Amino acid sequence: MAMKDYEFWFVVGSQFLYGPEVLETVASRAAEMAEELNAGGRLPCRIVYKVTAKTPEEISKVVKEANYNDNCAGVITWMHTFSPSKMWIEGLRDLQKPYLHLATQYNRQIPNEEIDMDFMNLNQSAHGDREHGFLGARLRKPRKVIAGYWRDEDVQKRIGDWMRAAVGAVFSKKIKIMRFGDNMRNVAVTEGDKVEAQIMLGWQVNTWPVGELVEYINAVTDAEVDALLKEYRDRYDFATDNLEAVRYQAKEEIAIKRMLDREGCQGFSNTFENLYGLEQLPGLATQRLMEQGYGFGAEGDWKTAAMTAILKAMTEGMQGGTSFMEDYTYELTGGGEYTLGAHMLEVCPSIAAARPRIEVHPLGIGGKNPPARLVFEGKAGNAIVVSLVDMGGRLRLICQDIECVKPALPMPNLPVARVTWKPMPDMITGIEAWIIAGGAHHTVLSYDVTAEQMKDWARMMGIEFVHINKDTTVDQLEKDLFLADLAWKLK
Ligand code: MN
Repeated sequence: MAMKDYEFWFVVGSQFLYGPEVLETVASRAAEMAEELNAGGRLPCRIVYKVTAKTPEEISKVVKEANYNDNCAGVITWMHTFSPSKMWIEGLRDLQKPYLHLATQYNRQIPNEEIDMDFMNLNQSAHGDREHGFLGARLRKPRKVIAGYWRDEDVQKRIGDWMRAAVGAVFSKKIKIMRFGDNMRNVAVTEGDKVEAQIMLGWQVNTWPVGELVEYINAVTDAEVDALLKEYRDRYDFATDNLEAVRYQAKEEIAIKRMLDREGCQGFSNTFENLYGLEQLPGLATQRLMEQGYGFGAEGDWKTAAMTAILKAMTEGMQGGTSFMEDYTYELTGGGEYTLGAHMLEVCPSIAAARPRIEVHPLGIGGKNPPARLVFEGKAGNAIVVSLVDMGGRLRLICQDIECVKPALPMPNLPVARVTWKPMPDMITGIEAWIIAGGAHHTVLSYDVTAEQMKDWARMMGIEFVHINKDTTVDQLEKDLFLADLAWKLK
């Protein structure tokens, strides 16, 4: 399902106390707000006004419908008037979709001269939203609270950002990841409990034979490869004469996509330790599939494959770019420190600063033919890297703010796509904090997703969230992780 197919249900709380005239005004204003928010063009998904709820039955009914409606990616509540929140206990307890409490007000200003008790009775968000908020807190219900005037650009942007996180949560519940081969031998951080991941995040992670992929590759026709080569020529520069290597990657792209689509998978992992029957490690093929929105994790890293797919789903239609990434090597000259991120081959061209080149070079590991790959530099700009690790008994999502910078040197002999960045709060603290939190070398790097969105997503999924940012200190992080460890054991 595409971003525009998701909708968010607007449920406005009230009660019968006010009489029909006030309730009609509340309902018509709520409908007007939904209409104006949709027309404003700042929200990625449609907001649908559903009901001005006055009884527990009305609330339960709309919640049950929301839970079972595949298009509904979340519920947004707002209290124009006072809605006694014991009425909401049943409904909120049953709610299984992402939940946003919008604390806003129909009018921006208090009308000084005209204000009277009729106005006061109709415009009670200031205390109606508090009564509603208490119940969310009392139920320990995972929720987002956004306060502010609904017509303000900033408020609408925050609602839109939350919607994208909610789409990521709903999308997560449907994810299937295709694994070609197991995890890289002896590697720990990319391992994890797939049953726990399915319970918490909804991911179905299953293995498929590399030999079957080989059959699919052999079945790709020359005409199909010719057509794809034409697309490659339109989009990339060719810096190689080895067209056979490029044609083989085109076959791999077509074959992997066919198997993914056959099984309804949104991402895949593979490993250079299991390329049985393949002539090349998929490089260009994997980069192309990521560009089309599929998730990927190398060396059997199904967690990062799924996270890449989720962040790509969250950012549909945005232009910054999102990719599988790996911390590779450091520049440690004082004052000019940065991290060089890359991979053996598989970096998504959505993050390229300029038109990528297709090159063919030997690969030091894997023992196969030199693979074709896209080579480019990443964009400059603010971004995040995220890593999901299995702590044993729980999943931890680690997110770090980074500033991508243009590489200081051209690096003409580096035959892979690369990005250089400064981690927050500074290079040394940033590295220490990441390692203390247990973050992997594999990450998803995104210029479009914000740390707040990942925090919202983690809350929706019920997993731990660690944010390393400009204010992080190692001392405080260690205390936070120590307390989180205790708290998560009690959950
Ligand atoms: Mn790797």
